[in-house]
Amino acid sequence: MRIRTYITVFYFCLFSATAFSQSLFTEFDVLATEALKSFDSYKIASGNVPEFKEVNGVRVYDYLVGRQLEVTAYIAADSVGELLYSEELVYAMLEALNKTFEKTYLSFTICNVVPIYDFSYANINTADCSNLEFLLKDYYMPNTINLYFLKSIQRDVEGDIKQVSNLVMQPDTLKDNDFILLADSDYHLFAHSFGHFLGLYHCHESALWGTEVVPRTACFTSGDLICDTPAEPFLEDYGLVSADCEYSSMKLNKKDPNYKKMIKDEDGNIYVPSVTNFMSFVPGECAILYSPEQLYRMAKVYYEFYTYLK
Ligand SMILES: [Zn+2]
Repeated sequence: MRIRTYITVFYFCLFSATAFSQSLFTEFDVLATEALKSFDSYKIASGNVPEFKEVNGVRVYDYLVGRQLEVTAYIAADSVGELLYSEELVYAMLEALNKTFEKTYLSFTICNVVPIYDFSYANINTADCSNLEFLLKDYYMPNTINLYFLKSIQRDVEGDIKQVSNLVMQPDTLKDNDFILLADSDYHLFAHSFGHFLGLYHCHESALWGTEVVPRTACFTSGDLICDTPAEPFLEDYGLVSADCEYSSMKLNKKDPNYKKMIKDEDGNIYVPSVTNFMSFVPGECAILYSPEQLYRMAKVYYEFYTYLK
């Protein structure tokens, strides 16, 4: 199984003292900006359950038809001036993303691909706010999604530097703050990052709205707030998802062959996760889709937060 570290940052270095992040190996607590949390609190309080409008079996919103979100892509260079990713790769990934979003009628288009030859921007350290601040100052196109392909992203936890693969700004009400940083060209990571950008939580999210139980009795108010993604445990735990994308409810321990622990929800139910979702912590090859309600949520988040994106 591929080892990868995610970081999802609700990045406030520039604006306040709070930054939240999480990785595949160290789960952090809070997974939303204040703006997204109040959006969700209102929905939960008002019982605003999604309504689907179907046209020819496709769930769609009138206001999304023909909406194209412009993406400005930036490609960092290495120390000798070679670009670290090809322009073709960037276009191919956006094309794949458009297929993934087809049923929302929301699409993405690249308005510009900008090389960054200044090597000081190839590596971003999230502990050094000025590093990111200068990147966003020198390379940023307002009213577009600013997508950076970099050599590395690091975070510093009490002096312990860790490499991570992405850094995403979630929906908020701040101006000129629409960005996704990537240090890997894996499509799971790419789609996962756009999911966060458009307001999705991890399928196993529990810190924010409480743990979702398997029978989905409170799926709209707990977990990831999405009802067509099954409740799931933290799937990165060793032994739970095989390289063949098979789920086993038995958590193992690499160091102790005798260790086995049955994973159940708080009511003792066995989980039945999908293992195919972009927002799950599964091996990259297993993740191939967003659920229809996740697509709906992203469309709704677009409508609430991002209509200024072209
Ligand atoms: Zn994530």
